[in-house]
Amino acid sequence: MSERQLRLPPSGLFRDGAWHESHSGQCRDIINPANRRVLTTAAEADAHDVSQAVAAARQAFDAGAWSGMAGRDRAGILSRVAGLIRQYQEELAMLETLDTGKPLHLSTMLDCPLAAELFDYYAALAWSIDGATRPTRAPVLAYTRREPLGVVAAITPFNFPLVLSAIKIAPALAAGNTVVHKPAEETPLTAARMAELLAEAGVPDGVFNVVTGGRETGQCLVEHPGVDAIAFTGSTATGRQIARAAAGTLKRLTAELGGKSANIVFADADLDSAIAASVNAFVFNTGQFCAAGTRLLVERPVFDAVVAGVTAGASAVPVGDPLSPQTVIGPLAGQRHLDRVRGYVQRAVRDDGAVLLAGGHQIESLEGYFFAPTVLGGVGQATEVVQEEIFGPVLTVQPFDTEEEAIALANGTVFGLAAGLHTRDVTRACRVADRLRAGTVWVNTWGILDVTVPFGGYRQSGYGREQGPESLEEFTQTKAVFVALTP
Ligand code: NAD
Repeated sequence: MSERQLRLPPSGLFRDGAWHESHSGQCRDIINPANRRVLTTAAEADAHDVSQAVAAARQAFDAGAWSGMAGRDRAGILSRVAGLIRQYQEELAMLETLDTGKPLHLSTMLDCPLAAELFDYYAALAWSIDGATRPTRAPVLAYTRREPLGVVAAITPFNFPLVLSAIKIAPALAAGNTVVHKPAEETPLTAARMAELLAEAGVPDGVFNVVTGGRETGQCLVEHPGVDAIAFTGSTATGRQIARAAAGTLKRLTAELGGKSANIVFADADLDSAIAASVNAFVFNTGQFCAAGTRLLVERPVFDAVVAGVTAGASAVPVGDPLSPQTVIGPLAGQRHLDRVRGYVQRAVRDDGAVLLAGGHQIESLEGYFFAPTVLGGVGQATEVVQEEIFGPVLTVQPFDTEEEAIALANGTVFGLAAGLHTRDVTRACRVADRLRAGTVWVNTWGILDVTVPFGGYRQSGYGREQGPESLEEFTQTKAVFVALTP
């Protein structure tokens, strides 16, 4: 499918099974980051629009057509969603690429199949949402039920719009909740299309609603007393604000936040494989990956060789048009992101003594928000560029002398999303993996995720788990029932 053949989804708000204009009539331009052209506009939802969406979701939940449906029947509808994602894969992939700037082959081969798999997986689990009976002292039948939470606000960032929507919507719906989804303001297109596909699959009106807009729209949603739970993915700074807002009405919150993940290379590792994985770890999705491996820690005897290999590999990564099959990384998501990444690199070199080993500049010959993969040496552990999430293709490299030192450096930020290590010594691999304070640890690889395996953060990378059966737990609550057995 070419860009010209693509039908862009409606710019309105999806509520109660239909598209609506926004209350204020305000819209936001949606820009293709690869060429800075306006693709379309998206409605900017205000407090009134948010209230209406929450009311639709509440009414649908209370009516029980979805929340009271047998899990196996919800499963049938969610499986149809998976089928529709596969049927419209070309269209969804093109929308995702134009909206985010990620290579089309990535949207096609990774994002769309993964979104479909998430719906298949949680459809399967919807069959077996069960409870337990417990042995009690009193003569009663005591049993538990796992019930849905109610209205879930699903708020997502710009880097994997389709996948991160599916990661929340599929388990939330499988458990019987209704949803108001707010995608990132920069990238609302696949969420709008998914609203149509969910309706086509047979999800009843009001069960899935979309409000588009920015920070203010999100704030209205998280503060709304009609919302029972918030499933949030985004930055740690926003996560803190949402946790405060959620506290007002004690809403259930899952927070999938930022990261600054360390990737350790020991001297006994297969260095070619470690170098290839280390490059991929920080350039994948233009570094806009929460679990990007952005801090490379290398044992001193192999430090120069590994840094030379990573620097050469990073400089050779094909950067360019996301529609070209040769492109490995596309642009950053927008001007704000480009300014942020460039600012971090400039300050590191100017103020913190960092040495530029590769990249460090915007690619001026390309129209969009392109930034060259960047490697920074000579950085101290306390510097901003080592401590803060940059969310772009920027890697810091640091040497270490002992295993103890590597672990201390790896654990030495406020984050704890992921970590990795490369070694041929399996005993050391397990010993170090145990001591890394991160929700996911990769050994001799980087970035593998699976719908069956839980993903989430330690420390300020958040709380709650997505994927795996754990996610279904996050979207249900347990009720205990005692039935007297005495006459
Ligand atoms: P962001 O925090 O700026 O925005 C995320 C979403 O929250 C957007 O939809 C935004 O409009 C909304 N929002 C912003 N302020 C809000 C508020 N006060 N109340 C309610 N909603 C609000 O994040 P971003 O820049 O879009 O995305 C990048 C961040 O997301 C990075 O930190 C990255 O690590 C993180 N991320 C984490 C994971 C994970 O699974 N842990 C996955 C992907 C991205």
